[in-house]
Amino acid sequence: MKVFVVNCGSSSIKYQLFDMTDESVLGRGVLERLGTGHARLHHTADGTTREMSVAADDHTAGMKMIVEMLVDPKTGVLSSIDEVEGVGHRVVHGAEEITESRLIDEQLLAVIRRNVELAPLHNPPNLAGIEAASAAMPNAPHVAVFDTAFLTTLPPVAYRYAVPEQWYAKHHVRRYGFHGTSHRYVTLRAAELLGKPVEKVNLITAHLGNGCSMTAIAGGVAVDHSMGMTPLEGLIMGTRSGDVDPAIVLYMISRGLSAEEVDRAMNNSSGLLGVSQCSNDMRDVLAAADKGNPKAALAVEMFAYRVAKYVGAYHAILPAVDAVVLTGGIGENSVPVRRAICRRLVGLGVVGDQQRNDQTVGGKDGPITAAGSAMPVWVVPTNEELMIARDTRQVLAGTDG
Ligand code: ADP
Repeated sequence: MKVFVVNCGSSSIKYQLFDMTDESVLGRGVLERLGTGHARLHHTADGTTREMSVAADDHTAGMKMIVEMLVDPKTGVLSSIDEVEGVGHRVVHGAEEITESRLIDEQLLAVIRRNVELAPLHNPPNLAGIEAASAAMPNAPHVAVFDTAFLTTLPPVAYRYAVPEQWYAKHHVRRYGFHGTSHRYVTLRAAELLGKPVEKVNLITAHLGNGCSMTAIAGGVAVDHSMGMTPLEGLIMGTRSGDVDPAIVLYMISRGLSAEEVDRAMNNSSGLLGVSQCSNDMRDVLAAADKGNPKAALAVEMFAYRVAKYVGAYHAILPAVDAVVLTGGIGENSVPVRRAICRRLVGLGVVGDQQRNDQTVGGKDGPITAAGSAMPVWVVPTNEELMIARDTRQVLAGTDG
């Protein structure tokens, strides 16, 4: 069975084509800068990456180009697009009503549209992607895999904010959380690596990429999460502040900024970028810190400190912790950041192992703590696309039978 996985942003389409007989990737790529007049497609298949400019003004035109690449008689990997038996879509927000992956039909589209008000930057491009892929692959069933679904198990004590009850009842103000597909994938994989059934595993998972979030997992189920009603809450991220005193927003408005300016500052020029004043990319911030830039060094330490604080909080609310699991670009690769996190966790009995830390990079999994560490810290590379492909296969198997 061949499954095509789509992840659409406002100006991009990321895709992977899986052969689910062995979960191998037949082709993958990204089409960027859609609608700017300078769209570029990076497409990898058979070990070769090709880059080209394409005339694609919107998702529908972009998807058509991608399909043409896949079935190209010379360089394509499919003889016909009808070989694709299922299409899996990443959809960000399903709110409280969507707890698992579902076949896309009119009813589900209505739910995704309804939740545009909760995810104005994400659900509209996800809808555009569904429309574009449905036009390009009209004979395949399409499945939506929601970022929020894995986090719908949070109990009220974790998802409610202590604000007037009507804010929740009338305006849906609560913690939803994001990155659920990544946290689910690493939870399943960590259980496998730890040799425990997933329903017996207690974990603290940290997705540390451009966006960063943490989840407390009890018995394989999410019970708390660091992102909130929006992806702004929680950890320090590339350009997002994470937790702040909410009164700062009103204070900065009283100092002359507009609400939009404060919103932009906290989402786009805070986090690693805001503190370091050099970059939102951890590699650049680390390089600057290495050269003696004190702002960059502070940004790295604040980043690690915040992760450690959440580990402490989740350790307190979980019955026991089998492992802390690090994933995402920083979690999977950044030796110094992982060392800084482990150092800040000595109080919980974490004993870092430098050799293991040095060796567990570039897609490898394994512990980065010593054998006797009271709390093991593991690196487990995420694979959201594979999770979406597996869900797509499973949902379609259910509809067939
Ligand atoms: P996204 O959240 O957009 O999927 P990634 O998971 O790819 O992003 O993570 C991007 C982050 O990972 C960036 O801050 C980048 O600097 C960091 N990163 C990637 N590789 C390394 C590395 N070798 N060392 C340090 N940081 C890295």
